[in-house]
Amino acid sequence: MRKFQYYIPTRVLFGKGALNDLHKKGLPGKKALVVTSSGKSVKVNGYLDRVQEQLELAGCEHVLFDKILPNPVLRHVMEGASLAKETGCDFIVGLGGGSSMDAAKAIAVMATNPGDYWDYNAGKTGKGLPLVCDPLPVVEITTTAGTGSEVDPTAVTTKEETNEKCGFMHEKLYPVISVVDPDLMMTVPPALTAYQGFDVLFHAAESVINKYENPMGEMFALKAIEYIARYLPAAVKDGSDSEARAYVALANSMAAFFMLCTSEHSMEHALSAYHQKLPHGAGLIMISLAYHRHFVEAHACDDLYIKMAKAMGKADADKAEDFLDLLLRLQKDCGVDELKMSDYGVDPNNLEKYAANARESMGRLFACDPAPLSDEDVVKIYRQSYR
Ligand SMILES: [Zn+2]
Repeated sequence: MRKFQYYIPTRVLFGKGALNDLHKKGLPGKKALVVTSSGKSVKVNGYLDRVQEQLELAGCEHVLFDKILPNPVLRHVMEGASLAKETGCDFIVGLGGGSSMDAAKAIAVMATNPGDYWDYNAGKTGKGLPLVCDPLPVVEITTTAGTGSEVDPTAVTTKEETNEKCGFMHEKLYPVISVVDPDLMMTVPPALTAYQGFDVLFHAAESVINKYENPMGEMFALKAIEYIARYLPAAVKDGSDSEARAYVALANSMAAFFMLCTSEHSMEHALSAYHQKLPHGAGLIMISLAYHRHFVEAHACDDLYIKMAKAMGKADADKAEDFLDLLLRLQKDCGVDELKMSDYGVDPNNLEKYAANARESMGRLFACDPAPLSDEDVVKIYRQSYR
């Protein structure tokens, strides 16, 4: 068995009403920069008010930074970090989906470190320098079940000038406290519920087929796959189904405890780096059947695809193709089997460009695939997925 480390230092407050306990859990500072999206949902649904009330109950001051876009961008990281410094914030609270939570982590880095965030990033134009100082401590409050950012040490951001969308990872970016309260997810619209749920499914599936997977990670991932297959269609059909929402939320965090992505994520990031209106989960859904069919047809890891098919409810699964059938059925059950890249401006004449970007921005994930994937294979998968 391969060596691995188990290290998840985040206190997760999970369950209905968990947000109400936040003020009692020892917040890591006295003044918080609350980082949230430029959209209205956290405000109109009262989540921002509730978070601010929790901070006040804990005796903390707070400053609001509410500019984060669906794909968080470098300039907002730098702007948020300046605000944190100017106002003397000593911890960061991310409130929202993956974008706000990731931006909170990136801002936590730049609130204490000199220079530009990309100095520390390892993307194509990043310098990959080590951090000079520890980031500020981060508290994450998730309002979606999708990215798993609430339990991982990763921040994904985009540098617009160079169309680079990359993840930055640092052990000190594990949130100190995370709130996973399904009550905050009840208002997510059906399409977004589906996109985010499939993001969870692929975090888990990519972990299972990953060359560097370990038994602990596989345990979390298979359970996450089981919960998504069983509960996501119900959460999509009826957003007020609190039991379904809770299991999808749990699957999200479980898939992230040991998230080991493969090149499916590199390929998707290349699409949404150029087409920022494309939701990450939707991009993954679009390429997923062709991507996994490639490895199924190559017999790269039949046993692992069979394990995942069993987790998805087919107890007598005995061939890797069963996973593809179940994946398509789950897409149909969630109403996302007919998504089109062309609706988001993906250009069929640019497939080579996306393939090059996937390799340049997140090339390291290709080394995790269960079998080698050439640039020609990547273009072929994009082409098969295009409509
Ligand atoms: Zn993802």
